[in-house]
Order: sequence, then C-alpha cells, then structure tokens
Amino acid sequence: MNTRIKNIVVLGGGTAGWMSAALLKKVLGGSVNITLVESDEIATVGVGEATIPPIQHVNRVLGINEAEFLRETNATMKLAIKFENWYRQGQGYFHTFSSPGQSSAFCQFHHYWLRAKRAGLGKDLWDYDLNYLALSAGKFAKLETRDPRLELPYAYHFDAGLYGAYLRKISQALGVKRIEGKVNHTTINQDTGAVEQLLLASGVAVSGDLFIDCSGFRALLLQQKLGVGFDDWSHWLPCDRAVAVPSERLAQTRPYTRAIAHHSGWQWQIPLQHRQGNGLVYSSRFSSDEQATQTLLQNLECQPVADPRVIHFRTGRARQQWHKNVIGVGLASGFLEPLESTSIHLVQSAIVRLLKYFPHTGIQADVVKQYNQESRIEYEQVRDFLILHYKLNRREDSEFWQQMARISIPESLQHKIDVFAAQGVLVRERNDIFAESSWLQLLLGQGVEPRDHHPLAGAMDEAQLANFMQQTEQLKREPITAMHFHDDFLQRFDQA
Ligand SMILES: Cc1cc2nc3c(=O)[nH]c(=O)nc-3n(C[C@H](O)[C@H](O)[C@H](O)COP(=O)(O)OP(=O)(O)OC[C@H]3O[C@@H](n4cnc5c(N)ncnc54)[C@H](O)[C@@H]3O)c2cc1C
Repeated sequence: MNTRIKNIVVLGGGTAGWMSAALLKKVLGGSVNITLVESDEIATVGVGEATIPPIQHVNRVLGINEAEFLRETNATMKLAIKFENWYRQGQGYFHTFSSPGQSSAFCQFHHYWLRAKRAGLGKDLWDYDLNYLALSAGKFAKLETRDPRLELPYAYHFDAGLYGAYLRKISQALGVKRIEGKVNHTTINQDTGAVEQLLLASGVAVSGDLFIDCSGFRALLLQQKLGVGFDDWSHWLPCDRAVAVPSERLAQTRPYTRAIAHHSGWQWQIPLQHRQGNGLVYSSRFSSDEQATQTLLQNLECQPVADPRVIHFRTGRARQQWHKNVIGVGLASGFLEPLESTSIHLVQSAIVRLLKYFPHTGIQADVVKQYNQESRIEYEQVRDFLILHYKLNRREDSEFWQQMARISIPESLQHKIDVFAAQGVLVRERNDIFAESSWLQLLLGQGVEPRDHHPLAGAMDEAQLANFMQQTEQLKREPITAMHFHDDFLQRFDQA
C-alpha cells in the first residue's frame, strides 16, 4: 500500500489509546494528524496500576515533571514485587528491579553467593540487594549514581483512571483531537482490504490512513473487522478472570506490590497514595466468581471502598498485531495476566516499535512482517516468565496448583530452567523485558538450586569469600540510612 501516512486514528481512550496518542504525536509532531475516538458509553477496563521501570522512558519522552506526575496520578514508588506462598505456603521471595551483590568481569555475584551459602558463610540472596534492603526498611530515595552497584531502579503504582486522564491532558495539549462517540460500523476499501472510516452512532465518519486499535478486549478492528485470529495460551496460563476492589489506604505505604498465591489463583495488593488497589486472579474452572470474591474480601488489609467487580479475560495474543493499516495496541492486541505488571509496558513497546518502523511513505509487507515477529517474540518471552511462577510450585493444597505443576511447558522455558539448574548460568534472550537478575530471583524463589557454580567463584579461599560477602552487604546497606521513609519521600518530593 503506497499511501503516505498523514492521518492517524486511535480507537479507544484507555491507557493504551492515550499513551499511543501522546507518544505518536510527541515524536511525529506536525508530520501527522492524530484523532482519538472514545465512547463515554463503554468504560475503560479500569485496572492496570502497577508498572515496571521502563515507564520512565515514556515520562522522559513526554517531558513529564515527576512531582506533578506523582501528584496527578496519586502514585507511589515501586521497588519490587513480593511473591508470597508461590513456591510453598508460608514461603515468600522478592522480584526486585535491582541486581543483587556485585559481579566480577567473568563471574556473576550469585555464583559467589551460592558457594558462600554452601559453606555456611552467606545470608539470603536479597540481603545483598539494595532495592530489597530499602523496601524492607520502608524507605526510598532517588539515587544519583554512576555506580551500577548502587542504583535503586524503580517504577510506579498509580491510579489507572487518573493516569488515563493525565495522558489525555498531555495528548490534547500536544494537538491530539478527541472525538467522543461510539463506533457502530467500519468501512473497508474493497481493493486493498484496508480500513477507511469509522462510522459513529452520531453519524460522524472518521477517516484515516493508519488506525491504532486500542478498543480493549473488544478488539473492534483487529479481530471483529479484520479477523486476524488469536493464539490462545490458556493451556499454559489458565486464569481467565479477576475480581477487583479498591480499599482504604494503608497507614504506611509500601514501596512494592504484593502477589499472594491463594487456593486457586493469586491476589494483588497495589498501594496508592489515596487507596489500595486489590484483586484476585483466578481460573473459572477451579473457582466460582462468588468464591473468588469471598477470598478477596476476606484477605483485604483495609475496608473496601467500592463494590467488587469481575473482569473476564482470555490469555494469549492477536496472531498478527499489525494487519493491513491496523495496529492493535493494549488489550486489543492480547493479554497476559498482571503477575509481573507487563501490560502497560507492552503498550509502550508496541508504540516504540511502531515508531521504529513507521510507514511514512506507505505500508510495506516486509516491515509489517518484521513488526509482527518482534511483537510475537516479546509476548512469548513474557508468557514464559509467567509460566515459570506456576510450574515450579510445590503447593499441595489444591488441584489448581497441582495441575499447574504438571503442565508441560514451552521448550524454550524448560531449557532455561535446565541450564540454570546445572551450572547456575542464566539464559536470557535478546530484547527480553526481564533482566538476568529477574530470572535469577524467580528461579531461586521457585526453588531451583543450581548443582554447581562458576569455577571463578571457587578462586577465593574461605576467609576471602567471607570478607567479600560481608563487604558487599555493607556496600549495599550504606545508602539506606540517608533515605527517607516512603511516605515522607512522597510528601517532600511533592513540595520540592
Ligand atoms: C485484572 C487486570 C489487572 C491488570 N493489572 C495491570 C497492572 O497491574 N499493570 C499493567 O501494566 N497492566 C495491567 N492490566 C492491563 C491494563 O489494564 C491494560 O493494559 C491497560 O489498561 C490498557 O487497556 P486498553 O486501553 O487497551 O483498554 P480499555 O481500558 O478497555 O479501553 C478501551 C477503550 O476503547 C473504547 N471503545 C471500545 N469500543 C468502542 C467503540 N465501539 N466505540 C468507541 N470507543 C470504544 C472504550 O470507550 C475505551 O476508551 C490489567 C488488566 C486486567 C484485566
């Protein structure tokens, strides 16, 4: 299709729609016109409140002032996710955004740690992790450092509704045009098969050269109109529902998300400045909506402030996330449960990818193919990481967990587990969202103990090793004293 792309239409005004509109307009500027269509009749999904550190790139590109952002979205800082009862009931571990310890040129820290642990010289892995030490003291700081060992990488928890409204304000200030109205029909060019116009209930027609489908689970253009098909991954990740309810805020706001495994699913707790976000993700094959709602309400830390709401979803991805002149972004392009807070990141990376391959002078089949291939790989990498949480559980309390332990997993994941179990080597593919330290924490947390460590970790004698471990812990503990308690940080930063 050799048409110059001048008019972009974004369908949907949830997080995906407004993030797409803001980023595209900011980067492409006057070279394109962007119109966003959203319907007041169709609510946004209303969840999606925990993020991962790359979201800071979005804020940087959009020129967002962090104090204003925290204020407008009632955000808090996120240093990690705490997984409770995932391996066995009563046990927990962290997935922090930092890397534990300090590594040498050819040998990562965890090999020294493994050797020290076996010799009875070391502590828990997380005792050498700055994010963990900060969060367990309830503290936070923005550390300005060039020393990678002393970085405190962070993300945010924010109010999904406020975040959408904030992105809308930014988008409209940049020149994005908003049209309110429900799309009832879509016209297709009979020769090319491309979408030409969205026809609204009001009679208004919105034409475009390129359409970004951010219509949520409806996937109005990509699935309903173009029928690209769906790769269903529910045999690996069988949870298909969530019940969500907000509750009163905690007296002290934690700088991390909690993911607590229950009888047939898991519960999230996301601390915000004004309230806590809660939800239970479950499989309808193992739990009714009523049972799930009851489990959630029984496990709230504070009083609920609204009625629980059940959300249905399907795990998997659109077979082609770019087809003809339609690109699916957000829930319209696929969904993986929010265990690692990856969905908003997948919105961000879809737009970054689209900007990389932006078809200024027309849509080329090879470019679309490349875009789709990269999207598929990204989704598969997240999928494998999520499956790992379930597969290696040793819970015996319910059929749900026992069945999850029995599922056959993708070969790519089994290979990673086997290589780590053999020699403690972390296999991380190019462009994987998750760093080696993420894989490390998950594998150890889920009970994989490598049979051997790297030979370089054996080069020190025991006294040297003990000294190295002690120095490492001291190095990591040192910055904590100067940090503020999380709530104090939020207050001071707001006033700075
Ligand atoms: C239970 C759950 C928990 C989640 N937790 C997290 C999390 O912690 N972290 C994270 O990163 N992500 C999370 N997500 C994902 C996250 O919520 C979404 O990725 C994000 O909100 C983007 O949603 P969206 O904009 O694609 O869709 P939606 O918010 O559903 O927006 C769809 C938009 O399309 C419009 N629309 C639909 N049909 C029409 C029509 N016919 N005409 C006009 N407009 C129309 C609607 O009006 C709406 O504006 C979670 C998702 C679920 C289900």
